[in-house]
This record gives sequence, C-alpha cells and structure tokens, in this order.
Amino acid sequence: MAKILCVLYPDPETGYPPLYPRDDIPTITRYANGQTAPTPKGPLGFKPGELVGCVSGELGLRGYLEKLGHELIVTSNKDGPNSEFERHLPDAEVVISQPFWPAYLTKERIAKAKKLKLAVTAGIGSDHVDLDAAARAHVTVAEVTGSNSISVAEHAVMMVLSLVRNYLPSHGIATYGGWNIADCAARSYDIEGMHFGAIGAGRIGLAVLRRLKPFDLHLHYSDPHRLSPQIEKELDLTFHPDAESLVGAVDIIDVHMPLYPSTEHFFDDRMFAKMKRGAYLINTARGKLFERDAVVRALASGRIAGYAGDVWFPQPAPADHPWRTMPFNGMTPHISGSSLSAQARYAAGTLEILQSHFGATPIREEYLIVAGGALAGTGAQSYKLT
Ligand code: NAD
Repeated sequence: MAKILCVLYPDPETGYPPLYPRDDIPTITRYANGQTAPTPKGPLGFKPGELVGCVSGELGLRGYLEKLGHELIVTSNKDGPNSEFERHLPDAEVVISQPFWPAYLTKERIAKAKKLKLAVTAGIGSDHVDLDAAARAHVTVAEVTGSNSISVAEHAVMMVLSLVRNYLPSHGIATYGGWNIADCAARSYDIEGMHFGAIGAGRIGLAVLRRLKPFDLHLHYSDPHRLSPQIEKELDLTFHPDAESLVGAVDIIDVHMPLYPSTEHFFDDRMFAKMKRGAYLINTARGKLFERDAVVRALASGRIAGYAGDVWFPQPAPADHPWRTMPFNGMTPHISGSSLSAQARYAAGTLEILQSHFGATPIREEYLIVAGGALAGTGAQSYKLT
C-alpha cells in the first residue's frame, strides 16, 4: 500500500461544490501538435467541468486509489516545517501538486522524503521541484504536458488586449459610477500594427502567436529551438537569436520560457533598460523569471507602460507583495492554467500518470521532466539543471 500526498488549493470561500454557470464543457481529444489529450483507463472520478483542483475536488482520484488499497492524503497545508505536507512527506511514495498552489519540493524536503518515487505536477511547469535534487534521488518528475497550454495562451491574449486598450482601469471607472472618457482613452491604444514578441515559443508561446496573427501585429520570437521554416513563413515570424535582441525591437513582450536556475531573475534592471519606452510585459510563465522590485521600478518610472500576469513568488503571494498594488498592473492570482476546462484535462492526465506508475507501464515520454536520474522527455527539451 502506498501513501499518495496531494496538495491542492483551498475550497471556494462560498463552499463546495460551487454553483456552476454551465452544464458542460467541450471535449478536446487532440492538441495542435497532434498529441492526444489524456487517455486514462476506466472511468474518471469526476464529471468534466467540475471544480476538482481544490481540496474537496481531490482531482477525482480517491475512488481509483482506494480501490487499489492506497492511502490518499489531500491537504492545502503545505508551507513550513509543521505543515501537514511535511508531516506526511517521509511516508509518501507519490506527491501531487499544482503550480497554482505549489508544494515546494526543495532539496531539503527531498532528502526527508525517503520513500518518494514520483512527483506529479497536475498542470505544467515543475520548477517548484528542485529538479537536480530529484534527479540525484532518482525521483521521477512528471507533468501533464499540453493539458492547459491553450488555457494559458487564451489568458495571455486577453492580457495583451486588456493592457494595451486600458480595459481594467476603464472597467473600474464604469463600476464606480464615473464617465470620464478622457481618463479611459489617455492610455488606450490599438494593438494593430504593433510589434509583438514571444520569449519561448513552445506549446504556449506558439499558440499565442497563432492566436494573435489575425490582429495584424508584426510577430517576433526567440527560443533556443528554432521553429520550422513552414511555421515561420505561415505566421511571418521574425526570429531573434536571443531575448536581448527581441526586447528592444517590440512593443509587447510575452514570456513563455520555463523557470530553471539560469532563467531566474532573467528580467532585471539591465533587461528593462533595453526595452522600448512604453513596452508592455505579459508574464504567465513564472514569477521568479522577473526581479520583483525591478518590475515595480520600471512601471513607476514609465520605462514600461504595463505589466500583466498571473504568476508570483512565492505562491500564495503575501498580502503586501508590491505587484498587487504597483501602477498599471493587470495581475490576477495564478489562475490561467486552472480553468474548469483545464482541470478536466490535467486531472485526467494525473490519473493516467498514476495508472502508469502503479501498473508499471511507461509514463508517456512527453509527460516526463526527470526520469532515471536525469532530465527526460519534455524536461530534456525545455529545462536545464543549471
Ligand atoms: P514548452 O516546454 O512547450 O515550451 C517552453 C519553451 O521555452 C521551449 O520551446 C524551450 O525551448 C523554450 N525555452 C527554454 N529556455 C529558454 C530561454 N532561456 N529563452 C527562451 N526560450 C526558452 O512549455 P509550455 O507548455 O509552452 O509552458 C511554458 C511555461 O509556461 C512552463 O514552463 C510554465 O512555467 C508556464 N506555465 C504556466 C501556466 C499558468 O497557469 N500560468 C500553465 C502552464 C505553463
């Protein structure tokens, strides 16, 4: 019998289950790159469209795991040495966590987790796990690659439009009884004709580029892996060999690269100094890619015109985190990859990974980040250990 330790975000403050505004969600069976959506065997422990990412939702895993005689612990209490997470960690064979409410698996915690074999990210982005320590301890790290890529891409497109068109402040003026058109218009532009750059053009970055194409922007990108000539031609893309050359050429910078040791604080005062005055920044990748106070300084000085995103460090962000109140921000809590549509896929993908683990069958190559003591699968393609 194995212990599975699952860290999920707290239930809605209004109680669980919520009153759902819709009765169903579309069924997505295949992604743009041809990869199939999760294909677990047997029934799901939930109805797609239900809120399963919170504690009471349990990712729908309890029935499957208890039928096999395993023990499932679900908690949102994850931080500090007295947390429920640390209490159960030494006995856990599998840890499951979502990037929205990450259970940070540091080197020290991995050292305490003597029975740990598998760390699953229910979602995408496994930087909350010390990947080097996981590799050394021969812990497999897997995530549900592709499950929420389009969810995040849609969110990024929304943030591009809302920042450049000054949507959120204008909505605030309407909500609070105002009608000063000049106040709304004084920071509002069209995106048509602007230059847009994606840093990281993997599953999400490419999906954003594709979605923005009909808006008649000039599209740029930078990625250590160059896209095919066909895609570059189809989208009329300008490739930049590095992020430095891209940031000076575009009006909107959209970040989709993973966080690993050498991309931490990639965007600092030096990078902001290279940008056009009035550039907009969108970051749905990871909070730590940016130096926290450099963002605040760039907004306060007018070097950049706006910053929107949903990723912070740490998570949950403290109440006094300056990104909550800095000028011209369009921040949300970390939600872009946890729409009800996304949850259906990453919960099914988590079940699929568990079925592979307990059935001793290989986990899909594209789900692997670390395996056999080294980066593997998508991890080998997109991450570095340094
Ligand atoms: P992906 O692996 O498909 O693509 C990542 C791309 O980044 C790859 O093409 C890789 O070559 C490129 N890259 C790596 N290092 C780079 C660098 N230094 N400069 C530029 N590009 C670099 O991953 P994805 O599915 O597109 O996800 C990207 C990231 O988005 C994840 O790592 C995760 O951190 C984040 N994410 C956030 C949410 C959310 O809810 N906000 C959800 C999913 C993923």
